[in-house]
Amino acid sequence: MKAAVVHEFTSPLRIEEVAKPEPGLGEIVVKIEASGLCHTDIHAAHGDWPVKPKLPLIPGHEGVGIVEMVGPEVTEVKEGDRVAIPWLGYACGACKYCVSGEETLCEQQLNTGYFLDGGYAQYAKAFAKYVGKVPAQVDPFEAAPLTCAGVTTYKAVKMSGARPSDLVAIFGIGGLGHMALQYAKIAGATVVAVDLVDEKLDLAKQLGADYTINGKAEDPVEAIKKLGGADAAISLAVSPRAFEQAFRALRRGGTLVFVALPADNYMQLPIFETVLNGIKIVGSIVGTRLDLAEVFDLHAAGKTHVLYEKRHLEDVNQAFEEVEQARVPARLVFDMT
Ligand SMILES: [Zn+2]
Ligand SMILES: [Zn+2]
Repeated sequence: MKAAVVHEFTSPLRIEEVAKPEPGLGEIVVKIEASGLCHTDIHAAHGDWPVKPKLPLIPGHEGVGIVEMVGPEVTEVKEGDRVAIPWLGYACGACKYCVSGEETLCEQQLNTGYFLDGGYAQYAKAFAKYVGKVPAQVDPFEAAPLTCAGVTTYKAVKMSGARPSDLVAIFGIGGLGHMALQYAKIAGATVVAVDLVDEKLDLAKQLGADYTINGKAEDPVEAIKKLGGADAAISLAVSPRAFEQAFRALRRGGTLVFVALPADNYMQLPIFETVLNGIKIVGSIVGTRLDLAEVFDLHAAGKTHVLYEKRHLEDVNQAFEEVEQARVPARLVFDMT
């Protein structure tokens, strides 16, 4: 089968023929139709983070397709089902995190497109217990971005505690941000979208943002303070400076949710203001299987819009460049059909 493979962190991905996977115990093989490009895939391919992925690696944790083969003891899905293969590719199912609805914190977890081969291929293997079932009404090309960008921001909005009377600031409008603002609107909040690119802010407006701020044209902290300060801010931009702005834009008692993972790992966090203003800081990593099911249900009910552009897997390196240079409005999805 054809796949995009990382051999070294310093070289481009190579499109090559590799062996089609065979399902083992509890595993399935999925014929991929659509495979989203998440910024994490670029960090994985570059080995940007403290914990390095396996090599060689087939990236991708937004793979959606049809179950073609099921291994022994698979009861969750059957051949012909459409499924999504998310970042949480495997968890132990027995530790205190797994049994308390915090499976994304499981210490035994294996991540798709990082420690397990992912969706940048014609076929991908997955653990049946950890795939999401895609409802019939959901298009596979829309399901792909929901599998990481959707579930990650849905969870982040949950973690922010956003309520109908709240002002929620979304820092970074792109693959994640365009979904985050919709979930904050569904929660009933008033939403401020912050970005550096006008086209992305126009998009935010179309998707329901109440206010937009271009961080190049005005100081987002001042602009949000004028609105009374944010009850919650969600950091989706891969820049520590944007995290610092999000912190300073909070009102007293506000919550800052960390989601993006900048290659530059540190930010300045003032202790005095955090304590005196009663600020809560929360890290939020992807979402559980339940969160993903809720994300698909909301989309099937017509409550969210997914913006994406198709690309061919052969153009994976150019697609990475487009995302790194912020030249795409929302998500890129590889068409594997
Ligand atoms: Zn992702
Ligand atoms: Zn566990």
